[in-house]
Amino acid sequence: MHDLPIYDVVIAGAGPVGLFLACELRLAHLSVLVLEQAEDPHAPLKQLPFGMRGLSSPTLDAFHRRGLLDDVAAPQRAAVPPTHWMQQPLRAGGAGGHFAGIQFFHDRIDASTWLYRLPSPAGTHMASNMAHIESVLAARANVLGAEIRRGIGVDDVEQSDAGVSVRARDQTFRGRWLVGCDGGRSTVRKAGGFEFVGTEPEFTGYSVEVELAQPHAVVPGRQYTPTGMFTYQPPGTIAMVDFDGGAFHRTQPITLEHVQRVLRHVSGTAVTVTALKQATTWTDRAFQATTYRNGRVLLAGDAAHIHSPLGGQGLNLGLGDAMNLGWKLAATLRGDAPDGLLDSYGAERHPVGAQILDWSRAQVALMRPSHSTRALAAIIRDLIETRDGATYFAERVWGLSLRYEMGGSGCEHPLVGRSAPDFVLADGTRLGERLRNGKGLLLDFDARAPLQALAGRWHGRFAYVASDAHNKLGLAAVLVRPDGIVAWAGVDTADQAALKQAALQWFGAA
Ligand SMILES: Cc1cc2nc3c(=O)[nH]c(=O)nc-3n(C[C@H](O)[C@H](O)[C@H](O)COP(=O)(O)OP(=O)(O)OC[C@H]3O[C@@H](n4cnc5c(N)ncnc54)[C@H](O)[C@@H]3O)c2cc1C
Repeated sequence: MHDLPIYDVVIAGAGPVGLFLACELRLAHLSVLVLEQAEDPHAPLKQLPFGMRGLSSPTLDAFHRRGLLDDVAAPQRAAVPPTHWMQQPLRAGGAGGHFAGIQFFHDRIDASTWLYRLPSPAGTHMASNMAHIESVLAARANVLGAEIRRGIGVDDVEQSDAGVSVRARDQTFRGRWLVGCDGGRSTVRKAGGFEFVGTEPEFTGYSVEVELAQPHAVVPGRQYTPTGMFTYQPPGTIAMVDFDGGAFHRTQPITLEHVQRVLRHVSGTAVTVTALKQATTWTDRAFQATTYRNGRVLLAGDAAHIHSPLGGQGLNLGLGDAMNLGWKLAATLRGDAPDGLLDSYGAERHPVGAQILDWSRAQVALMRPSHSTRALAAIIRDLIETRDGATYFAERVWGLSLRYEMGGSGCEHPLVGRSAPDFVLADGTRLGERLRNGKGLLLDFDARAPLQALAGRWHGRFAYVASDAHNKLGLAAVLVRPDGIVAWAGVDTADQAALKQAALQWFGAA
């Protein structure tokens, strides 16, 4: 056993979160082993139409900052015809997203309130297909040198002060750290002794592809009925919610007869299903690990939090975990992390996860089949039509309201803790492109020698870039963490105490 190689990090799960984390860790030149249970990465449910995922602003920013955006967006840009209800604009002005199926529209949003958001290729939201996202991330992880072994599921985990032993299909693998990215039923979470708490489901959700004897008997689009909710995109793509307390999910095989029974029940029609092509179920079970770290074992993605997919947030949440964790774990392994850096992963990401779980619960509350719920939904519909309402929902759904509590540096600028604006520098490059190596950055718009000298003391941990920019947003300089979050922003660089404090807080001793 002692002859086994010891990886810096073993990752359980080659889903999008595990793969993206592997890329982040390889950028920092760590040795990374990814163990994936499934032999075949091309599961049918990751393909269209069920594989479609809404990507929000923090995810698109992250892809932009790592040079992955063009590859992820390529199919959209090739103008693939819409094949999924999420992509269909339902009204002039275009739907920007929804809350419990109640849509907000682009032409209502007041983007002028987002003072520190500059136009960026990343944009605010986009739809992409899971299989495609995973293949882009797997290709990047391979190019960067991560070792990915498929068909080897993690069975058990043991940790000591020095490292972690991972049992997987009769083999043992060793790592200094283990990250469980092994999805909602995470083995790492269970074997690692994490507490998982939350609320039990109210419904079973179905995503099915069917052939109907009377395709016109069912009303297209999203419909609330006295018995549930369904969304029908002709000729045969249906999502539906049956408030059965989650009783059906994973307890029985999904048969044509059952799908027909549920569809008749929630749609109130006598429609006949003649063929069941694909089907999967899910619930609104909303649980979260109470902590994301237990010794040398960490959790990210669905392994750390699960909730209903109706809000379209889980993938974004998980990729945000990976972007937050990667550079912190790398600094910890290198030995230059400031005290508490790794624990700031949970401190920053757990509240974001808790907020998303509540966001999904609030949507479930608005979908219950009752008169009072429909009355409440009518009020939300009125509010979402207002300028403030549409702006609020866009901020939440697109992830623009994300801000980490980052007390410590004494810098009070409203940008601190937020995603850095995508400044266009004098040479035409963007800030996002300058973060591709996974390192932090001090961007000095005035090329002041004292700032350069200060940055020199952290050489190798964050770069110093002196450049004018097209729109500086009234700033003189900005310190950006490797994950693109602003650590310090100054309108005046004469007093460098807060900048130095922020550098110490996030990049360790000079
Ligand atoms: C119908 C539906 C629609 C959705 N729509 C959206 C959306 O629009 N936007 C959005 O942001 N999110 C959406 N989600 C949620 C999103 O798909 C998940 O949150 C996301 O896939 C989580 O990624 P992950 O890598 O954490 O987990 P997963 O994608 O579940 O990947 C986990 C990986 O770990 C592997 N694994 C499992 N056990 C082990 C083990 N013991 N050892 C090794 N490997 C293991 C699995 O095979 C899998 O490859 C949706 C989900 C569903 C079901």
